[in-house]
Amino acid sequence: MTQHVDVVVVGGGQAGLAAGYHLRRRGLDFIVLDADPAPSGSWQHMWESLHLFSPAEHSSLPGRLMPAQTGETYPGAGHVVDYLTDYEKRYDLPVQHGTRVDAVRRDGERLLVETDTGTWRVKAVASATGTWSRPFLPALPGRGTFTGRQLHTVDYRRPADFAGQRVIVVGGGNSGAQIAADLTLDGHVDVTWVTERPPRFLADDIDGRALFDVATARRRALDAGRSDSGGVASLGDIVAVPPVRAARDTGLLHAKPMFAQLTATSARWDNGSHTHADAVIWCTGFRPALTHLAPLNLRRARGHIPTDGTRALDEPRLHLLGYGDWTGPASATLIGVGRTARDAVREVTGLLS
Ligand code: FAD
Repeated sequence: MTQHVDVVVVGGGQAGLAAGYHLRRRGLDFIVLDADPAPSGSWQHMWESLHLFSPAEHSSLPGRLMPAQTGETYPGAGHVVDYLTDYEKRYDLPVQHGTRVDAVRRDGERLLVETDTGTWRVKAVASATGTWSRPFLPALPGRGTFTGRQLHTVDYRRPADFAGQRVIVVGGGNSGAQIAADLTLDGHVDVTWVTERPPRFLADDIDGRALFDVATARRRALDAGRSDSGGVASLGDIVAVPPVRAARDTGLLHAKPMFAQLTATSARWDNGSHTHADAVIWCTGFRPALTHLAPLNLRRARGHIPTDGTRALDEPRLHLLGYGDWTGPASATLIGVGRTARDAVREVTGLLS
């Protein structure tokens, strides 16, 4: 059966909810289709000790400040789940959970949104599917021969799952540093942290607030035709959140260079040294979850869809929210996505009228 609505938002994480907030304010006819059975997008899947890299008041979606979490400057992932669950309810956003969008395709003046529960015929689509469902693991000699456990960031939950084991954590970004710190501070796991280049910690007083300001300033400079300051990447890779700082300051959080290959039971470096391992946790990033847009044939360099702001250049009825800075400054953060969602909905409103 084909149903009709003006706008479908694909994905009901923070980006989809921010879009929903602005669509609701403008009184548009829309629905949010979300594959997860429960609210909050990827936050419900993150590891137990994860804390935000910004205080609550700097991690808010439009309309409602995130309340502070008692006793915590940087709220935990569970607090974010509660906040987003409440947000969805508070604004009575029409989110249909447990519905996966398989394909978006052109159908004359309309777009067809095909899901596992039926098809929607719409005037515009906002895609907000994030990156969590597309973990990236690099190709590396011997990866297929390793007989221990191999996990990605998305699979990691808690140190107790590795008690008494030798674990290699791969990755010099925030996930790698935080998971290495989590395991190290636990004291029951033998941790080796490896990074492709020496880890670059941001200064201890720089958190998500400053990163947001830097990302915004960079966008403004680029828009005004000024030279690229390098943005957030020029400051470093790792926010020194309290657990990372604590592990680093104990002197236990040393990074080794990336190994050259895996064998059945160990990692081997080019200089012949090796480390036995029971598990390897790949904290090696994500790719945008854009498979459902494949029928539109919009992807270009590095798998991205070229956009003007959030609007797909080659399909003006499609907007992209979240994913990374390429869809707006800091649009893959709680505080940043509100602005890109507002701008996208303004354009969609223009398109519909
Ligand atoms: P998601 O939260 O991933 O939501 C996407 C939704 O789309 C999901 O509900 C999914 O089920 C749904 N979906 C996917 N595919 C389909 C489909 N085909 N059909 C229907 N539904 C679909 N940001 C901050 O601001 N502060 C932080 O401290 C912070 N820490 C982070 C720590 C980690 C480890 C990671 C990975 C990210 C962090 N981020 C942080 C970045 C960002 O805020 C999160 O990644 C956030 O979850 C992105 O929200 P999103 O709505 O774009 O995507």
